[in-house]
Amino acid sequence: MMRLPWFDYRAPKSIEEAAKILAWEGTGAMLLAGGTDLLPNMKRRHQMPGTLVGLRNIEDLKRVSNGNGLRLGAGLTLTELLAVRGLRDRYRGLAQAAAQVATPLLRNMGTLGGNLCLDTRCTYYNQNYEWRQAINFCMKKDGDVCWVATASRRCLAVSSTDTAPALIALGARVKLVSAAGAREVALDDLYNNDGIDYLKRKPDEILTEILLPKPAGWKSTYWKLRRRGSFDFPLLGVGAAVKTAGDGTVEEARLVLGAVSSHPLVIKTDSLLGKKLTDDAIAEIGETAESRAKPMDNTDMDLRWRKHVVADFVGYALRELRGDDMGATRLRIAKQLV
Ligand SMILES: Cc1cc2nc3c(=O)[nH]c(=O)nc-3n(C[C@H](O)[C@H](O)[C@H](O)COP(=O)(O)OP(=O)(O)OC[C@H]3O[C@@H](n4cnc5c(N)ncnc54)[C@H](O)[C@@H]3O)c2cc1C
Ligand code: SF4
Repeated sequence: MMRLPWFDYRAPKSIEEAAKILAWEGTGAMLLAGGTDLLPNMKRRHQMPGTLVGLRNIEDLKRVSNGNGLRLGAGLTLTELLAVRGLRDRYRGLAQAAAQVATPLLRNMGTLGGNLCLDTRCTYYNQNYEWRQAINFCMKKDGDVCWVATASRRCLAVSSTDTAPALIALGARVKLVSAAGAREVALDDLYNNDGIDYLKRKPDEILTEILLPKPAGWKSTYWKLRRRGSFDFPLLGVGAAVKTAGDGTVEEARLVLGAVSSHPLVIKTDSLLGKKLTDDAIAEIGETAESRAKPMDNTDMDLRWRKHVVADFVGYALRELRGDDMGATRLRIAKQLV
């Protein structure tokens, strides 16, 4: 049985109090939201914070407000997020992504903020201590070498959050609060392309809110490749959103790939602008996305095949946004009705 290491537990009731604890404790403390990622990681000795700062008593992190867009508290569980009124109609890509994270029980515990700050993953890392010790560890934790690419100076562990590609495609920003103040950044700017230092969040900052612009004129979607339809981390995620004129001409578009890099990978969409979503236009951007994706041999399934299907998944996403009936394909691939 894997046991948790010893730690102190703090349970602040406000964001301000949590920020003060983080400032006082320094890098020895970590935030605990649902714990569905952090606690297993602690059992495997990936992270061993001396203090855990529990966020579940902070009501302000559960707030949802509508105004000039939608503000979502980072402490909402994914189940609570899916119950937000109008989410499925107005921000469908986010709802589709959240509904495919893990299992219903894990979505009851796991939060949106925890999903955005999820640790990167790798076959050589997501193992217990003894397994990792047997290969003399790796660069991400306790070792020197990257077993995926031994000449690499950078850890290539994979960004495996489902909601980040969907939210970046929706133009999301996030609010980060520390004892020193607050700042807002585009969600895309929260991530580094580095499997170890994967977040630009400072250790004393709390992600408090996710801010979504009004969806006027936009449609969004999320497609996920995984081995099992019941639950599995993404082997590929495609978050896409388009804003079209009345005649179907694309005015703006965003396309983001998950699980093929150490950060959500934003694909340039210039080739779509001013055009209709024809089969040719979709095939062209699909090929661009496929060439940019760099899946590594550190997760499930063959990496050449995972790269090859990027164009197919981009195609599913854009055809759905064009208005094609993709119901049967979605049901087959995602076990999702819409
Ligand atoms: C079997 C299994 C299957 C899974 N499948 C998926 C999947 O398919 N897709 C997927 O995306 N995830 C998956 N997960 C991972 C996880 O369950 C979800 O990502 C979940 O949303 C994480 O949220 P949490 O609240 O539990 O995070 P926690 O475990 O509490 O925290 C995760 C990380 O985020 C940090 N953190 C949490 N909240 C904040 C905050 N407000 N500000 C700053 N930092 C914060 C923590 O310090 C920690 O580093 C799976 C997990 C398991 C165990
Ligand atoms: S990519 Fe390399 S350094 Fe990073 S976790 Fe995997 S083996 Fe370790």
